[in-house]
Amino acid sequence: MNELHGSKKLFEEAKRLTPGGVHSAIRFSSPYPLFISRAIGAKICDADGNEYLDYHLGFGSVLLGHCHPKVNAAVKDQLDKGIIYGLSHELEVEAARKISAHVPSAEMVRFCSSGTEATYHAIRAARAYTGRKKIVKFEGAYHGWHDFVSVSSSPSLSEAGPEESPTPVPDTDGLTEASKETIVVPFNRPEILEKVVKKNRNHIAALITEPVLHGSATCIPPQNGFLRFLREITREHGIVLLFDEVVSGFRYHLGGAQKLFDVVPDVTTFAKAMANGFPVGAVCGNEDIMSKFKPTGNVEYGGTYNGNPISMAATVATIKELEGGKIHQHLFNLGQMLRDHLEGYVAELGLVAQVVGFGSVFQLLFTDKQIVEYRDTLAANKEDFMKFQKGMMQKGVFLIPQPNKRCHISAAHTKEDVERTVEAAREILWKMKGN
Ligand code: PMP
Repeated sequence: MNELHGSKKLFEEAKRLTPGGVHSAIRFSSPYPLFISRAIGAKICDADGNEYLDYHLGFGSVLLGHCHPKVNAAVKDQLDKGIIYGLSHELEVEAARKISAHVPSAEMVRFCSSGTEATYHAIRAARAYTGRKKIVKFEGAYHGWHDFVSVSSSPSLSEAGPEESPTPVPDTDGLTEASKETIVVPFNRPEILEKVVKKNRNHIAALITEPVLHGSATCIPPQNGFLRFLREITREHGIVLLFDEVVSGFRYHLGGAQKLFDVVPDVTTFAKAMANGFPVGAVCGNEDIMSKFKPTGNVEYGGTYNGNPISMAATVATIKELEGGKIHQHLFNLGQMLRDHLEGYVAELGLVAQVVGFGSVFQLLFTDKQIVEYRDTLAANKEDFMKFQKGMMQKGVFLIPQPNKRCHISAAHTKEDVERTVEAAREILWKMKGN
């Protein structure tokens, strides 16, 4: 076994070599980020030799558990046949056939390598298809880091403006005019969206949304009929309805959350869980829109790694495993059990907190404000969450170290793992109450 260098020591060197010592800004956490040495099943080990039950799971991309034997076997088999061809091959066809069979909106499928690429391609295609420029996104939603969507992903209340017409707040310096075409509205507020659509009629190319809002809003399910309302209003005004299922896709259902909620968008994007953590993305949609991509249409679409045989082998193996049919039931049962227990302790201890989540996703929010949209989550006490997260770490349970994100469960987690987790949570919450 390699000698362990420890997170603190590794970070000292990393921050000299890499801005902030991290390769994705969100990975920094104070005083230094955890460096991981291995991850297998439901467990993750850090560079100091500590083992944790993992509820981060690569931001939710590990759905079946780390190093799933069948997915890894498919990848190992492919490693000996070729890593990249830059040419077409059978696994691409098999992966597309499976996605098309399961996902209601996926008449056609195009692969890429990440969620950001997928939403970029999808928006471009929607603009080409409609001949319009504007897009609508929800406040607090994250759809990747490109200019089209890099506004109001996590604005503070002081910058966000009035709820009826939120100010689009740039997520980053260096944005171009492309970001100015993006209109921001609150999730779960049909009356506000309706006004915005009417005001901008004939200019909106696409409405992009997650069916269940995650991003910087933890996890907020759509309220009754909200997705159906989105379907109707977009259809009425010739707007492309784009479901970004990068998180929800395959995590909540093999057919995407669209299958669960029975609302079919025009275009869907996938990434993360579709290959159990191997880098992949996909744009899916009806033939009219998808055929806008070159070479059938005139919308550019390239990528050296698109459909590479390693990611395709992982995609096919992941879908085959999910086709067994029992995994989502297991995930949903564990999610419900975990949320119910946590909610019970919150009530028992009289804490100002609540548990949010859906299916195999959960988060603890230290506020009693009813959570309907992103702004409500800003009422949550972040310091309390970080105290809870650090306490859980000391008990060997790794929750996501960001109060505004969410925790995930994998198929490798067991009932016993969840029991251990909620027992640890009870102890930490009890201590936090001042005992
Ligand atoms: N869409 C959603 C809903 C996401 O959560 C993310 C990533 N967290 C993305 C798009 C971007 O995906 P990627 O990080 O693979 O580029």
